[in-house]
Amino acid sequence: MDIRKTLIRPVAMPASSSSAVVTPIMPAVVYASDSPDALDAQYEGRSPGYTYAREGHPNADILARRIDALEEMEGGIVTGSGMAAVAVVLMGLLRAGDHVLGADQLYGRSLRMMKEDLPRMGIATSLADPTDAAAMEAALRPETKLVLIELVSNPTLRIADLDGIAALCKARGILLAVDNTFTTPAAIAPVTRGADIVIHSVTKLLAGHADVTLGWVAARDPEVAQRLRVFAVTTGMTASPFDCWLAERGLMTFPLRFDRAQQTAQRLSEFLSGRAGVARVLYPGRADHPDAARAQSVLRGNPGTMLSFELEGGRAAANAFTEAAKGIAFAPTLGDVGTTLSHPASSSHRALTAEGRAALGISEGFFRVSLGLEDPDALLACFADGLDAARQARG
Ligand SMILES: *Cc1c(COP(=O)(O)O)cnc(C)c1O
Repeated sequence: MDIRKTLIRPVAMPASSSSAVVTPIMPAVVYASDSPDALDAQYEGRSPGYTYAREGHPNADILARRIDALEEMEGGIVTGSGMAAVAVVLMGLLRAGDHVLGADQLYGRSLRMMKEDLPRMGIATSLADPTDAAAMEAALRPETKLVLIELVSNPTLRIADLDGIAALCKARGILLAVDNTFTTPAAIAPVTRGADIVIHSVTKLLAGHADVTLGWVAARDPEVAQRLRVFAVTTGMTASPFDCWLAERGLMTFPLRFDRAQQTAQRLSEFLSGRAGVARVLYPGRADHPDAARAQSVLRGNPGTMLSFELEGGRAAANAFTEAAKGIAFAPTLGDVGTTLSHPASSSHRALTAEGRAALGISEGFFRVSLGLEDPDALLACFADGLDAARQARG
């Protein structure tokens, strides 16, 4: 065979009167059309079809439709990461002279975008406490165009006053964007409680296996959604087919994973509270949580899969705990099938001064736990080992 005479064209799928029960992967970057007229029809939306993968491809659309359904929204887009989804909202919708108000304990990179990148583009930003709608109201300006919040703060797990903030935004015509990564649609679909835009790091609980980095964003208003889509395509924030396929596979078990991890979180909160060497336990399902009533209303009885606790004995106790609790990955992520432990003072909050951390209630003994799917008894045994070692380190 003369390779120079071989035309490299796709071969049709073999005929089959049955169909695949899972989504195929379609990695094509370009799509061939029948004629210039047919291409016109596609670009003008008169006939369906794909042209170029950055503009859209089947695996991204299939994943987006599944997350849309969970979030009770339409027309969401999948982005290359959760941060790409945040960037599409902040940079795709705002212009120089606008002001954006953020919650003061947003995800670290979102905070950085608010503090470093938006001001460079002439967009003013400020932060306020989302558990206090009056504090948020006081921070609004005539030129405020958007408010960005997360419903459960990281790592202290405080609950935002969603209803209060949504009412403020609605009265002033300000867009309310909610990053629902921590809370997930298993607890709440923010669009049903006044959010205009909903954001996910699909990387976390939705994909759930710590093997794919993706985001998703949707807007209630189709005109806003269109601006998000165009900005994502222009800036190349869209996602690869393989990643979308992998995330879709993970998403199939999301409700089961959520329920199981949440049950284990509840058990761990009971196990840790009142135990010698544990100064406090923060879990939105506990009656002693500072926002217990709001957790019930906003999270609809789903306190979630995250828990934080504080060891007595500072850094020495923290080191001894992670070294002894060998079965638990000491890694600053969340939403994985395996339980992960993060130590904010040495990771997400290391840039703050000790005083800044103290103001948030984050000491050297403070840990955040993202519960996974391990056998709960085996997991509690790991925690018991960690606590024993921490107690010895304290002397
Ligand atoms: C992880 C995370 C992000 C960023 O998502 P990536 O997929 O890592 O880019 C944004 N918001 C929250 C709340 C997160 O936990």
